[in-house]
Amino acid sequence: MRRKLVVGNWKMYGRLARNQALLQGVLDGVRELRAADYAVCVPYPYLSQAATMLAGSNVAWGAQNLSPQEEGAFTGAVAPGMLVDFGCSYVIIGHSERRGLFHESNEIAAAKFEAAQKAGMKPIFCVGETLAERESGITEQVVATQLDAVLVRFGAKALSNAVIAYEPVWAIGTGKTASPDQAQAVHAFIRQRVAAHDAAVAQGLCILYGGSVKASNAVELFGMPDIDGGLIGGASLVADDFVAICRAA
Ligand code: PGA
Repeated sequence: MRRKLVVGNWKMYGRLARNQALLQGVLDGVRELRAADYAVCVPYPYLSQAATMLAGSNVAWGAQNLSPQEEGAFTGAVAPGMLVDFGCSYVIIGHSERRGLFHESNEIAAAKFEAAQKAGMKPIFCVGETLAERESGITEQVVATQLDAVLVRFGAKALSNAVIAYEPVWAIGTGKTASPDQAQAVHAFIRQRVAAHDAAVAQGLCILYGGSVKASNAVELFGMPDIDGGLIGGASLVADDFVAICRAA
């Protein structure tokens, strides 16, 4: 049985005072929960706040991006070791907003994936098709190419210390969730593709669904055989909503 995981992706939202209330609400809400693992990926400036408030709790924390280089003259960039200094367990890699708005290629995402693992963090590697790609029937092709950027390059074993997040771009922040069957089909496809390299790694691989997950649809989504939890954007900014999703896992 794979253990479920629920991760909040705060994106570029937050202020010290608001975060304090949100983190406290999440801590209080999930304190008694044991069934799954929980984490929040916060903006860089708030890693110290998250580390201070969440230390010793059952909520882990992480970042939403990193720079693949260890250090150097890279103005504005944040190195993997810096995230480790602040206790990050996870880092989101290859989110569609990074791929789309910041022109991150599969190669860049792969380099970041490798850098995260080298530093001792678990990458949450995001894949997913746009609406146009789904409508032209190339969802599997797109997801396969994104997945292969790490699967083929680093081998299946690298995925034994990583999380995959399937996030259809058309479902992110739109209120349009993939149906449980639509999501399950892609999750099963991802697991089979990994299984072709290594059945044991595929069996143990945590594959999250992301894209307009809410308390009202989480139970059904998380009930699908290949959906191992969620990567939660908007609903992770409201403590009660995020806690309700954690309860669903
Ligand atoms: P959403 O975002 O839950 O607001 O759709 C998910 C994500 O982008 O990770």
